[in-house]
Amino acid sequence: MCGIVGAVARNNVVPILLEGLSRLEYRGYDSAGIVVANEELQRLRTTERVSELGRLVEIRKTQGFTGIAHTRWATHGAPSERNAHPHFSGQDKKIAVVHNGIIENHEVIRKRLEQKGFEFLSDTDTEVIAHLISFNLETTQNLLEAVCMTINELQGAYAIAVVEESRPDHIVVARNGAPLLLGVGNNGNYVASDASALIQVTKHMIYLEEGDVAELHSSGYRVLNRIGDASYKEVTRSVRESDLTRDSVELGPYTHFMQKEIFEQPIAVANTLEMVLNARSISPQLFGSEAEAIFKKNKGILILACGTSYHAGLVAKY
Ligand code: GLU
Repeated sequence: MCGIVGAVARNNVVPILLEGLSRLEYRGYDSAGIVVANEELQRLRTTERVSELGRLVEIRKTQGFTGIAHTRWATHGAPSERNAHPHFSGQDKKIAVVHNGIIENHEVIRKRLEQKGFEFLSDTDTEVIAHLISFNLETTQNLLEAVCMTINELQGAYAIAVVEESRPDHIVVARNGAPLLLGVGNNGNYVASDASALIQVTKHMIYLEEGDVAELHSSGYRVLNRIGDASYKEVTRSVRESDLTRDSVELGPYTHFMQKEIFEQPIAVANTLEMVLNARSISPQLFGSEAEAIFKKNKGILILACGTSYHAGLVAKY
């Protein structure tokens, strides 16, 4: 699972998105991409580093008040430019999607959408999300509703962010089994898979919970949560002040990021707990959407690891 950053603001969001992506680089990735809504959806993708994406943005002079960006770690489809996110769907009502995670029932949905005439341009599981939202937009005309209808059909883990060409004043996001948080700022509102991607714009974070769907505008946001199988109701999520600082996500005095990670293990554990406790629950779903059902059937746990992970596994066994 890799990185998501999104922004809808009263100023050009491109520098914010690029800085956010570069703060997520330490997680590793094989490609990166960005979509900015400015009259039309302008997309740039690369299998090079985030700095190369920055160079492309400068050449094309890409800018706008709304955008989403992604670093991909391929699970379905080779690391290539055409598989890199964001993925598009639709012509009159064009949308773009970024996704972290895995859609387990993507093959079934893909077959159904192909029969309806949707053309797939990538090998990713993510592209089914884009086309399914497009398909649902034909029924509702409302992106938030179309996203709710879409995720009702998705199985697996996901954090997604969606923008639409015809209404560039908002972003719709959703999470299930993959982390996603909102950043509440003075000049706009933001979304990211990791708080470190947003600390350049705000310290005020909302940690989304499982099944949450949110709509962000430059001046506000609202969060819905799934009740039952298919309906949603508006919920209140508290805004927390993050303890992260700019220094904490920069290389600082260390020679490389692995060395920094080793020395920062105590604070990493504390931050992880902060996120979990802010979500007010340590639920089995932290391990994926189907974890709860699977855990009930467990008779034992096998920890398979080598090297350093083997030693971590021994601690877990203990
Ligand atoms: N499964 C998606 C893909 O292969 C997303 C991977 C990720 O989380 O970066 O494109």
